Amino acid sequence: MAAKVIRLVMNLRTAGITDTAVLAAMERIPREIFTPKQMHDQAYEDIALPIGRGQTISQPFVVAFMTQALELDDRTKVLEIGTGSGYQACILAKLCRRVYTIERHKPLLQGAEHIFNELKLRNITAICGDGMKGWPQQAPFDRIIVTAGAMDKPPQALLDQLSIGGIMIIPVGKTGQQVLRRYKKESDEAYAVKDLMPVRFVPLLPDIARSSEQADDPTDAERMG
Ligand code: SAH
Repeated sequence: MAAKVIRLVMNLRTAGITDTAVLAAMERIPREIFTPKQMHDQAYEDIALPIGRGQTISQPFVVAFMTQALELDDRTKVLEIGTGSGYQACILAKLCRRVYTIERHKPLLQGAEHIFNELKLRNITAICGDGMKGWPQQAPFDRIIVTAGAMDKPPQALLDQLSIGGIMIIPVGKTGQQVLRRYKKESDEAYAVKDLMPVRFVPLLPDIARSSEQADDPTDAERMG
């Protein structure tokens, strides 16, 4: 295996990722295929990278940290909001039974679906839609991961679509003051809430994106080659 992949995984371990299944998944999913060609040499650095439409693929440590916090096993059914490049969805797919993922930018969704096929990950179902409404037809979900930042609290639809005993991981707060928050649903009204760490995510936005939205991002022209 490439030295840079081994180095990344070692760094994740040093930084506190102790779940060996998560580390193995990070080792097996090639991050460069989710990034534009001109960034392939930076794909195993622990940094976020642009993916087009003004969006980013998260930093590997944050992906690993959120995945670990979800406490997945091969029976869990997971909803992801913000498919983006599809990288986080692929990591999840290695660790749980089924992943449902929603993206509001159609071109990003299409790029991600192409990769799911290429990697033969058959347990991912993806749609273009407004993830703030969740996916009522497939609810409830054992786990929900939101990879875009909510302004002040999680959308109510997502809390409603979480199973009792289920866990949601979501960045919350204004730009510059976001924290990654964990909600554990204890009953229909009661949640245990814990702040995990400061983070920086692109905003969670309502509705499906119009084709003109962020269409001037130069990354799009070069995306995936
Ligand atoms: N998980 C992604 C990270 C993508 S960045 C990855 O591994 O690459 C966050 C993504 O959330 C962006 O693509 C953005 O378009 C999307 N997003 C923001 N608000 C959304 C919403 N309401 N519904 C669905 N996707 C949303």
